[in-house]
Amino acid sequence: MTEFRRLAKDIYAFVQAPLICYSSAGVIIGDRDVIVVDSLTNGAMSRSLLTEIRRVTDKSIRFLINTHSHFDHVYTNHLFPGATVISSHRVREETKANQKAQDKHDALFARLFSDVDLRDGRYTLQDMTFSGSLCFHQGEREVRVLDLGVGHSESDVVVHLPGEKIVFCGDVFMNGMPPLPGEGHVTQTIAHYKAIEGLEAEIYVAGHGDPGTLADVRSQRIQLESQFQHARECYEHGMSYDAALQDFAKDDIPMDFQRLIIWPATGIQRQAARDHRPRQSEPHDRAAGHRHRGQAAPRQKPVKGKGPINCLITEGSIAASMLKGKSPVSERRKRTKRHALSGSTNL
Ligand SMILES: [Zn+2]
Repeated sequence: MTEFRRLAKDIYAFVQAPLICYSSAGVIIGDRDVIVVDSLTNGAMSRSLLTEIRRVTDKSIRFLINTHSHFDHVYTNHLFPGATVISSHRVREETKANQKAQDKHDALFARLFSDVDLRDGRYTLQDMTFSGSLCFHQGEREVRVLDLGVGHSESDVVVHLPGEKIVFCGDVFMNGMPPLPGEGHVTQTIAHYKAIEGLEAEIYVAGHGDPGTLADVRSQRIQLESQFQHARECYEHGMSYDAALQDFAKDDIPMDFQRLIIWPATGIQRQAARDHRPRQSEPHDRAAGHRHRGQAAPRQKPVKGKGPINCLITEGSIAASMLKGKSPVSERRKRTKRHALSGSTNL
């Protein structure tokens, strides 16, 4: 199900359902030409987007901006042959690495996303890169392209239209699913939320799901901060991944997303491993609760690749478990080492 939603004069969002692998795109029509934000996951989606664009304008699509390197946002760049494809330097580096591993990605996606149509999808390199920020001027309209750096991905770009008070957020903001700092950059993801909140827009176009409001973005940031604190407490008290998973399952989160919630927890663990410093625990009610239930284990010093909250579960295994309805815990037990494509399976 798709919708081509008018957000303001000459500004549209292409919104899809369901959420996973069904990303959004933005369309910004200027005096002379059109800017598109993100290509999509497969050829059918792109053709649908192009059809919708042609219903509202016959101007050429001159620029295509990629918000990040994940496949569902770059996979049909090649279906915009007349456009100059623009990304941050880092996004292009990531895309280049992914392109070299296309065969491996094909095999992985076939396993993880067996129900998703990926026909006509492949990594295609961007034509032009920038660092920091970039500004387009369409007559009186400013289109500000901002690289926020690592967060949901290794380089998260948002597109801000200050005059219209609209932000195309990429996957910094996904509406209807929890925040996913799936590559382990949790505090940076929280910082990105605060950055886009600071833009004080009225419409935040989500990378997946319906466009939201400033209140929606703020509430997701608060949710992630809460999860971060919860996972940090699990980490500080040396809980195993299994125990942490059970602890997260007690949170008041819709069942469908409970498995997703642990994803930030693995990110927190990895971030802690990167920080590489022992954390001091402090007495508090939740910690006391853990100890009473006998779940605490002797605290361990974080070691890269290992940790008190088990690092063996990767984005791939969690995504696979989520999509297949299996327990991530049982999936983990089948695995003996980290997946070679860790970090490449984000949604
Ligand atoms: Zn996405």
